[in-house]
Amino acid sequence: MDYSLLNRPKFIHRLRNEQFDLLIIGGGITGAGIALDAASRGLKVALVEKSDFASGTSSKSTKLIHGGLRYLKQLEFGLVREVGSERAVVHRLAPHLVLPEKMLLPLYESRGFGSTLTSVGLMLYDWLAGVKPEDRRKMLTKKQTLRAEPLLRDAEIKGGALYAEYRTDDARLTIELMKTAFRHGAVPVNYCEVMEFLYEGQRVSGAEIKDHLSGETFPLKAVATVNAAGPWVDELRELNRSRQGKSLHLTKGVHVTVRWERLPVKQAVYFDVGDGRMIFAIPRGGCTYIGTTDTTYTGDKNDVRATREDVDYLLNAVNHTFRHVPLEVRDVESSWAGLRPLIHEEGKSASELSRKDEIFRSSSGLISIAGGKLTGYRKMAERVIKLVIEEWFQHRFLEGVKTNDIPLTVEAFSSYDEVENYVNALLFEARGYGADAQHIRYLVHAFGKQAIPLLQGAKQFAGGDIAESLVLSELNYCIEHELTTSAEDFFIRRTGMLYFDPMRLIAAGDAVTAHFGKVLGWSEDKLNVERHRLKDSVILSTQFE
Ligand code: FAD
Repeated sequence: MDYSLLNRPKFIHRLRNEQFDLLIIGGGITGAGIALDAASRGLKVALVEKSDFASGTSSKSTKLIHGGLRYLKQLEFGLVREVGSERAVVHRLAPHLVLPEKMLLPLYESRGFGSTLTSVGLMLYDWLAGVKPEDRRKMLTKKQTLRAEPLLRDAEIKGGALYAEYRTDDARLTIELMKTAFRHGAVPVNYCEVMEFLYEGQRVSGAEIKDHLSGETFPLKAVATVNAAGPWVDELRELNRSRQGKSLHLTKGVHVTVRWERLPVKQAVYFDVGDGRMIFAIPRGGCTYIGTTDTTYTGDKNDVRATREDVDYLLNAVNHTFRHVPLEVRDVESSWAGLRPLIHEEGKSASELSRKDEIFRSSSGLISIAGGKLTGYRKMAERVIKLVIEEWFQHRFLEGVKTNDIPLTVEAFSSYDEVENYVNALLFEARGYGADAQHIRYLVHAFGKQAIPLLQGAKQFAGGDIAESLVLSELNYCIEHELTTSAEDFFIRRTGMLYFDPMRLIAAGDAVTAHFGKVLGWSEDKLNVERHRLKDSVILSTQFE
């Protein structure tokens, strides 16, 4: 059965009527990783997400599969070793979506670390992560640094370093994991919220679920329940009356995108701001994105916004570091703001808090997991599933962690070279489809080998604008294979267009909403509501108070 919006009622029917081994609450990267680990070992898995998949933190990160260089400063060697070595694994499992990205670290007279400390730190970083010799860090002279990135202001620069990381699309990685879990038998459904826990005696035995698309509520029965609700983990612990001991400390991180021409960096740069923080400026498609801030957050978790102060901070940092016409707020094409679900440590500031994950076990059997990184999702899942199996399944499924070898897409690429060859072959053919080079790269990096059927699919919408036909073809695919329920799901979490190609969103927004209306038989009123919701998303990402 396809993972199609049209099959969603059947998935809901299963959630209502079947008994599951494991219920996972939360459809971010953590929940998705746990679902795949459990389902691939043979557990019968349900996953519910109150909004869209990846709509929490997992679509609002810096979108790097990285070892977290700055955690060395906090002496988090275990964390750096784990996430550092996971980078290569996640790249191997999805080479079209997790792309090698060399990072340039400029060194300054008056900010950051000196070159000896940086050189030793990066050597340690490579060693902890088991980086291949050809990818290990290279220390650069001032001249080489400025050749690598001519836009850097040269007055203060004394040298630099190049080291290896990976770039991804966090929401697409989450969706691909979710689809892979589905192919292994899991039933992950979006817009389904846990309202209450169900108990047998003192033990959690599932949850009362509200389906926000139909408005119906139903019980979901499961032997074990895992709370992977990211910033909402403590709310669910509260609901379970098991919130004690450590608790979450949320910090907000903001990113902005500007047109690449406004900050035409040749390559990704990770620079010291001078106040103890480090910021990325990363070219991607037709944009450069810049981030991130790190400030304690106590506001509404369902309405996290970039403020004018956040945006000014990022633009000032860039203007201080790069030679170019200074960026102004009106240059910001889009933005996103996410919450880091970190573990509170008395006396530590936002950026000093550990990024390590933490598991909480309650006497009612609820297992909660928070913290961690996108990059470490597989190892977090392994730890959680080990506990689930020990507690409920008497080691029946303990053998055989399989996620090391499960590609995160159908018709997977065997290597990054194959991805590049595929892109080049498609660029050659692209003229026949009317797609430009940038769009071809985006299609392959987002949808892998589905790029060709997507291009071919655009022909059925012939007659209209070619760019719009391509968007509608992507939309058809996302509705039929990625449980996409609205224009917002599509433009934000399936394609990232709100962040990286807002002009395409503006051009195709009405056509996409109308297409949903046709497929789902929406009334004119419903269509208007959806059009407004999409406009609100654009306003939220471009207006700052
Ligand atoms: P989430 O993605 O928030 O998922 C939790 C989900 O639970 C949400 O979708 C929510 O809607 C759902 N939920 C909540 N309550 C309920 C309920 N009652 N019923 C059903 N569902 C519910 N990591 C990296 O590896 N690389 C990076 O470059 C990076 N950069 C970052 C930059 C920023 C600014 C931030 C904030 C984080 C960054 N991280 C990065 C960390 C990483 O993004 C997070 O660790 C990760 O996304 C957390 O995923 P999660 O699944 O735990 O939480």
